[in-house]
Amino acid sequence: MYFSEIKKLDQQYVANTYARFDLDVASGADARASDVSGKQYIDFSSGIGVNSLGFGNPKWVDAVKKQIDTLAHISNLFYTTPQMELAKLLCEKTGMKRVFFSNSGAEANEGAIKTARKYGADKYGPERCEIVTLQNSFHGRTIATLAATGQDAFHKNFGPFPAGFVYAKADDIGDLESKISGKTCAVMIEPVQGEGGVIALEKDFVGAVAKLCAEKDILLIVDEIQSGVGRTGKFLSCEHYGIKPDIVTLAKGLGGGLPIGAVLFGDKTKDTLGFGDHGSTFGGNPIVCAGAAEVLRSLDGKFLDDVTEKGEYFANKLCAIEHVSGISGKGMMIGIELLDGIAALDAVKAAIKKGLILLTAKTKIRLLPPLTISYDEIDRGLDILRDVLCELYDTKEQPQ
Ligand SMILES: *Cc1c(COP(=O)(O)O)cnc(C)c1O
Repeated sequence: MYFSEIKKLDQQYVANTYARFDLDVASGADARASDVSGKQYIDFSSGIGVNSLGFGNPKWVDAVKKQIDTLAHISNLFYTTPQMELAKLLCEKTGMKRVFFSNSGAEANEGAIKTARKYGADKYGPERCEIVTLQNSFHGRTIATLAATGQDAFHKNFGPFPAGFVYAKADDIGDLESKISGKTCAVMIEPVQGEGGVIALEKDFVGAVAKLCAEKDILLIVDEIQSGVGRTGKFLSCEHYGIKPDIVTLAKGLGGGLPIGAVLFGDKTKDTLGFGDHGSTFGGNPIVCAGAAEVLRSLDGKFLDDVTEKGEYFANKLCAIEHVSGISGKGMMIGIELLDGIAALDAVKAAIKKGLILLTAKTKIRLLPPLTISYDEIDRGLDILRDVLCELYDTKEQPQ
């Protein structure tokens, strides 16, 4: 099918919720994608941080294919080996104690919110139901996770929202403390805010939040949906902060390309949910879990060190590119601030024309490359980015 025909089908039959870029990705290998006409692209997006092992990683494909041939689905009323193996791997990698599987990030956060409220209610009564989240956070698109999201832009049109969410300023422990009361059951943070603009929280702040939560028996929920599973060079980005959360949520990169979410429970919360308290028809699907287990097996110490090194390589090279004013984030979760009035969205559109796939986050270009990206692919992508920024600047300087 020609691109024009594909676009027409989208316009006619698919809900208008996405402002799509003019690109139909047909296939991929490692950090390289091809469109329907066969044109090649370097991929600095990995979906949105999903294809952590790149496109078509042979081990991942093999694990998924084997599981499709063996057993595609059975409900959570029965045991399956891939789900139990993945749960064990997740606990071993993180020190958490139990796992609940969902299908997406928002669903994982829903599970975390339910758990926090039940923990509060069980121990202190139903009044203890409030969750403090941060301004500029992003926690998902369901009604409750939108309410948890500390950005007014997301709160238009869809009310009424469930009560019980309070927003505190990031990196301001005084403000956060003032939002805490006897009703607070949890504080929820992204250690590195993703959609909010690739902003790593300050170490002192996160440490102080963890201390405050521990003192007051308030649960610390860490949303690692974007920052987890090796993205920042640690398995969880909260390891950079030396904290031990009570609940961790994962999704995006965990599945390596298939939809999965996970809620990880620590010592305090591992038995909070009981029979019938929560559930999912598809959550923990054997195919998806078999793929995710392969992602986890790949992420050993050497792999994570490589992510850190590649992140530093990116940072050094990016800072030397003209019209880049600075970078933010951690590891291979990178925000790029642009100078000279160049809009991130224009840069991303121009980059696609030249064979490079990027993302934005607020006013920044955002990079979430496959964790397995090669130095050659990084160099080729950055060469394109350099050209794109120069050309955008030049066309701005000489208006027709
Ligand atoms: C993407 C994201 C979510 C939502 O995940 P979905 O799979 O889109 O539901 C939640 N929190 C963070 C930090 C995210 O980056």
